[in-house]
Amino acid sequence: MTDMPHYRMYVDGTWCDTTESIEVRSPATGQLVATVAYGDTATVEEAVAAAKAAHERGVWRSMPPNDRADVLDAIADNLAARSEQLTALQVNENGATVRGAGAFLIGYAIAHLKYFAQLARTYPFEISGPLCESPTLSAGITIKDPIGVCAGIIPWNFPLLLAVWKLGPALAAGNTIVLKPDDHTPLTLLELARAADEVGLPAGVLNIVTGPGPVVGARLAEHPDVRKVAFTGSTEVGKSVMRAAADNVKNVTLELGGKGANIVLDDADIDLAVDGALFGFLLMSGQACESGTRLLIHQSLHDEFVRHLVTRAQTLVMGDPMSPATDLGPLISAKQKARVEKYIALGQEEGCTLAFQGVIPVDEALAEGHWVAPTILTDATNDMRVAREEIFGPVLVVMRYQDEDEAISFANDSEYGLSAGVWSADPARALAVARRLESGTVWINDWHMVNATYPFGGVKQSGLGRELGPDALDEYTESKFVHLDLSNDRSKRVYGVVVSAPIPNV
Ligand code: NAD
Repeated sequence: MTDMPHYRMYVDGTWCDTTESIEVRSPATGQLVATVAYGDTATVEEAVAAAKAAHERGVWRSMPPNDRADVLDAIADNLAARSEQLTALQVNENGATVRGAGAFLIGYAIAHLKYFAQLARTYPFEISGPLCESPTLSAGITIKDPIGVCAGIIPWNFPLLLAVWKLGPALAAGNTIVLKPDDHTPLTLLELARAADEVGLPAGVLNIVTGPGPVVGARLAEHPDVRKVAFTGSTEVGKSVMRAAADNVKNVTLELGGKGANIVLDDADIDLAVDGALFGFLLMSGQACESGTRLLIHQSLHDEFVRHLVTRAQTLVMGDPMSPATDLGPLISAKQKARVEKYIALGQEEGCTLAFQGVIPVDEALAEGHWVAPTILTDATNDMRVAREEIFGPVLVVMRYQDEDEAISFANDSEYGLSAGVWSADPARALAVARRLESGTVWINDWHMVNATYPFGGVKQSGLGRELGPDALDEYTESKFVHLDLSNDRSKRVYGVVVSAPIPNV
């Protein structure tokens, strides 16, 4: 046990430890992967104070955006140099498959950090307005100031990527930040801190506090010196973060749950749409907020589509996430497994047909893992709980519809609005449907493709604000308008509405 890696927290440019520690275990094998320092509210105070002092010293916010961009690029290059190690760490801490972790969780994180570096170089931090001649000659400048100390609360499903979605725009805009990883997945974030430290990110600009969500996360959300909080996770906790943030009127970005409606129109390419539907609900074994978990199929191709879907699903391999042959890994925890199994049983009680259930691995080394086989429930209706609530596991709920209006009404009849999809051979027709969907993202003939240059976020109870794209920097800046009077012609000024007496002779 002495060789077990132990990770400390990163506060004010130094590594700090606690007497208590958290165990990080592989969700595939149950084996201990590492131990990690366990922060509390006292650590939050230190981290916020360090971030506030760094902001006030101004070393980061006063740095020209191009120079900040160079530092972000250097962090991304440092991460890329250790991407194999990060991929293995990601597989071990959250059970992502090695293929998914390499491409999506780590590969996207590095690429998206580079995008934010580039955005720092091009973002209009100062915008001069047109000269205004009435009533007197004046000019205006809008300055995009950093907000100050930001906090990022990160879930376990895509930890490094979702941390980059907060840290990238926060630092590009000149803020300082405190990140709180989920207890299951602190390792890749602490490696991110190491990568930042090695390339000379000034002390206090990035801080990472590990510890329980209701303690560390809740304190960050309410802390009077935190000016912005960005949260990704469950809708329930997101609401509590928003309530806590209200006390000092914090700027809030929330990326919450989803129940993505995936609409197959009657002219869709069935092969493509079948694979897209599987990818849509099974990435990360269904533990992705933007998953396509409600499949709406036109009645004319429903039965044929489901047959193809089941045939293709039978080919998927669930097993050791470290093996490149594995398609599907475990769920994050015993709690999540129990929750998903409850929903599978509930769906059948509600009247769904269990059209497919895959097999879980029989390997003894994986006996302690949290396995739930991919599951397809057909004959669902939109009023069922399995069609309305976020399950967050490898479960697809399939419904049939009569016409486009009905499909759109099913899709929009949800408290969520994070993602949706349309499959059709006719892009114009698909686009017309996409325009009517209440969703932050609509994919046409695709799923899960988050492009760093476009905004990502939800409507309704799926969230507030946007991550990615130039919108992301808007979320981490505040506009300050500077009015500059260029005229000495006192007679044209409107002071007279208040100061009407003649200037006294002194
Ligand atoms: P969660 O919302 O409890 O956790 C997300 C993050 O919030 C973690 O870092 C956690 O430590 C922190 N947190 C927990 N309680 C907090 C509090 N009171 N104040 C501030 N921060 C707090 O999510 P979970 O328990 O890991 O998963 C539960 C459900 O949430 C899942 O089944 C799924 O439906 C959903 N979920 C969604 C996403 C997403 O990407 N939108 C990610 C993870 C989980």
